[in-house]
Amino acid sequence: MRVHLTATAAAAVRRGHPWVYRDGIAGGGEGAARRGERRRGESAPRAGGAAASGDVVELSAEGAPFLGRGLWDAESAIAVRVFQRTQAPKLDERAIAERLERAFALRDGWFAGRDTTAYRLCNGEGDRVPSLVIDRYDRAAVVRLDGDMLAPWLDRLLPHLARALGARGVRSIGLRARAPLASGDAEGKKLAHLHGPPLPDRLFVRESGVAMEVDLARGQKTGAFLDQRDNRARVRALAAGRRRVLNLFSYAGGFSVAAALGGAGRVTSVDSASAAHASAQRTFRENGVDPAAHEFVTADAFDFLEKAHARGDRYDLIISDPPSFAPSERAKPRALGAYRRLHTAVARVLDRGGVLCAASCSSHITAEDFLATLDDATLERDDLRIRAIHGQPEDHPTLPAWWEGRYLKFVVLE
Ligand code: SAH
Repeated sequence: MRVHLTATAAAAVRRGHPWVYRDGIAGGGEGAARRGERRRGESAPRAGGAAASGDVVELSAEGAPFLGRGLWDAESAIAVRVFQRTQAPKLDERAIAERLERAFALRDGWFAGRDTTAYRLCNGEGDRVPSLVIDRYDRAAVVRLDGDMLAPWLDRLLPHLARALGARGVRSIGLRARAPLASGDAEGKKLAHLHGPPLPDRLFVRESGVAMEVDLARGQKTGAFLDQRDNRARVRALAAGRRRVLNLFSYAGGFSVAAALGGAGRVTSVDSASAAHASAQRTFRENGVDPAAHEFVTADAFDFLEKAHARGDRYDLIISDPPSFAPSERAKPRALGAYRRLHTAVARVLDRGGVLCAASCSSHITAEDFLATLDDATLERDDLRIRAIHGQPEDHPTLPAWWEGRYLKFVVLE
């Protein structure tokens, strides 16, 4: 199957960008596979023809008979994810398994001796295996597929995965479903079994020497926000001697327990989900920290900040890690407004001499965009400086041309 690209899309593929949007197909993509339709045996039109999700396609453009190979997605706005830009080897499960082995071997080196049993084994596009995310939680691995193109490959990839991961102590493999598995399942389980002994619903992993409960069955992402690992360690170091710490959007309390272990007097965790606090409290106990010495508030963060300000409460270390406010480019102006409102409210309860850690996990908000929501006018103060700007850790690698992969900003102001 051949897919002929526009000049713009071809240039992006040459730079190593792994996505071809439907409008990057010459002829506007008409003739490309219509939803769900598949007519095998028919001669294929130039632009993807009767391709089905998972089919290998060869990419070409004006003056470039071979640009690369990718997999077709009949449903998503991303029509092709590019796997290779060279003729050899051919794109089959062995070629993909080799890429995976490289990704796993890198982690062996990165995480040796770090007392860390949870990390991203494969970051999809960033590890040059587009759309395939695999997270390790100790003896369990959770697979997530973005789009549909790798779903038909999963059966063929699974033996390779089981072998390569088994050799590293992973016994069970699960698949993160996009929606709860059974409709009407009040518990809302989102984890399907693929291989090995049944996966536990919940387990403790270790992260930089800290125990952390992970809810595999119902948690967010594949269970935890592994991308904040290094930033949690940074918060631990920043917490020494702090009297009152505020962790907004605390989820399972990763930053909270880091602050408590780092020596903070009292840590207040705020999240709208009460189940997250129950998990956080188990994590506190597992680390020998009494949750009763700290505070867990189920509330909207904006409401909480307003009330805290009215009460005259002040904090000397604040972490703010909200969900993505900008899921799309279109949502960007509104998202910037939301970050501004949040940061104005946060700055009102930050002590003079305090530290503010502000995070954004939206790829549509660049670092400069985000910093503009932390300027003096927004914070209504002139005493803070940027101490550091951090991003995502090495197990969430990206590609130079794939800016969409660089989503995490973690700004430390003091
Ligand atoms: N900092 C966490 C990840 C945060 S994820 C970590 O390191 O693990 C975002 C969290 O924000 C979720 O737990 C969600 O329940 C919570 N949330 C979303 N909207 C909220 C709101 N308006 N107020 C408070 N919490 C909110």
